[in-house]
Amino acid sequence: MVRNGKQYLESLQDDRCIYIHGERVKDVTTHPAFAGISHSFAKLYDMAADPANEMTYTTEDGTVANKVFMMPRSREDLAERRRAIQRWAEATCGFAGRSPDHVAAFLAGFSSYPEVFGEYEQNVHNFYKKARDEDLFVTYVIIPPQVDRSKAAHEQEEKYLPVGVLEERKDGIVVRGSQMLGTSAAVSNYLFVSCITPLKPGDEDYAISFVVPLNAPGLKLYPRPSYAMGKESVFDYPMSTQFDESDSLMVFDDVFVPWEHVFVYKNIEATRDQFHKTPAHVLGNNQAQIRLCTKIKFLIGIARKITAMGGTDKFPQVQERLGELASLAATVEGMLLASEYECTFDKYGNARPASRFLYGIVGMQDQVYAGVIKILRELVGGGVLQMPSSYHEMVNEETKDDIRQYIRATGVDSETKIKLFRLAWDVIGSEFAGRHQQYEMFYNGAPFVVRGHAFRNYGYHEPLELVERFLSSYELPKA
Ligand SMILES: Cc1cc2nc3c(=O)[nH]c(=O)nc-3n(C[C@H](O)[C@H](O)[C@H](O)COP(=O)(O)OP(=O)(O)OC[C@H]3O[C@@H](n4cnc5c(N)ncnc54)[C@H](O)[C@@H]3O)c2cc1C
Repeated sequence: MVRNGKQYLESLQDDRCIYIHGERVKDVTTHPAFAGISHSFAKLYDMAADPANEMTYTTEDGTVANKVFMMPRSREDLAERRRAIQRWAEATCGFAGRSPDHVAAFLAGFSSYPEVFGEYEQNVHNFYKKARDEDLFVTYVIIPPQVDRSKAAHEQEEKYLPVGVLEERKDGIVVRGSQMLGTSAAVSNYLFVSCITPLKPGDEDYAISFVVPLNAPGLKLYPRPSYAMGKESVFDYPMSTQFDESDSLMVFDDVFVPWEHVFVYKNIEATRDQFHKTPAHVLGNNQAQIRLCTKIKFLIGIARKITAMGGTDKFPQVQERLGELASLAATVEGMLLASEYECTFDKYGNARPASRFLYGIVGMQDQVYAGVIKILRELVGGGVLQMPSSYHEMVNEETKDDIRQYIRATGVDSETKIKLFRLAWDVIGSEFAGRHQQYEMFYNGAPFVVRGHAFRNYGYHEPLELVERFLSSYELPKA
């Protein structure tokens, strides 16, 4: 089954426990912090439900599901999946990092390489099929809270700072603690909880993975401040009002998890292998790169439009900067396509995007994104701050003539110019924009972590062979 937007919104009205700006949220679909993003995600579900968008497929079990749940078995499958993910990314201009396709990819990756989960293998299959066939929106929290990064989980000053097992019961487990950082969790249906940071012997109570519904008793969400709240119009803040996914600290106040929702239990090796031995991490990051590719195209579109509007695109120096943006965008797209083209197949027949290219670009992502934003900032200049404080000045009888007269470009009316420049500010300078820079830098781990993936996955046999071959072509001269 593929849900439509209305069904998705109804599924969120389940008395989940969220505290923001001093109050408990009654209904995320109408609360000003979450209404914008939940309705944006509802549009994604409507898109997928529309056959014209070709976003569904027939599963191995004969059901009809969203392609974001696909287990790709060929290069063609990867391309088909990419086109579906790209369609969703285009609808959010690449600014929704944790749209429903991200964790869907992880779940498909888990279920397609079951041996890692040992006795819990069937739970993984069952939940994957449930999520796929009920078209559930699953998000995840897989990072322990920032308390003391120099200590292992079991060495922290209190036992249940990261989420861990409090009690084992006949029918399931009870977990206590917290985990960061649930992007979109407030507007999703289920949460996948685990730990992707390396665990050490002694950390067994934290070596778990499981899923819980967002309204599970004892599960509490503490989101950061909302960037949508207080923004009166989409015209003034087009991104903040529509695409603020929210990021939440998740607190597990003795949450019961039935055994059928447990994927890994007190097993350090399986906690690690679920991400890296299965195709989960490559499929999830492939989705993230498809989204990033769209986001960068959108940003360079803004740069191109703004420079054309101001007439600066005629300057060779500006063309050079636009060329640099074009190179960055083409690099991301090229690496994405290369990872698909050079895909490999594991023993279960899963098509895995090639790690060399996938992690090669993931490892540079913080620099690429920061580079794009820096050039865009340079090209827009102070114009983004020459805008009126809100649309009111554009419609107020006392002020509208001044705005019309002085905020414009040659052949471009004031409304068109302000609309574009307000958008530019919301992607480079607003609080929403700042959060996005932090997101692209950290969503997949700190920069040293993602460059570690690039290092481990490059495959140095070719470079080493080249050097060896050359070194063996000459010798120490005879005395
Ligand atoms: C906007 C945003 C959204 C996110 N969404 C999600 C989500 O939906 N789900 C989820 O699970 N996570 C999410 N994350 C969390 C993300 O996965 C973490 O931010 C990331 O793993 C890095 O962990 P950290 O932030 O605790 O940084 P830390 O690990 O504390 O690192 C911060 C800095 O400290 C230094 N440092 C820390 N440890 C070491 C070390 N061992 N060696 C050397 N230097 C070190 C480095 O300079 C590093 O950059 C999100 C993060 C952001 C910013």
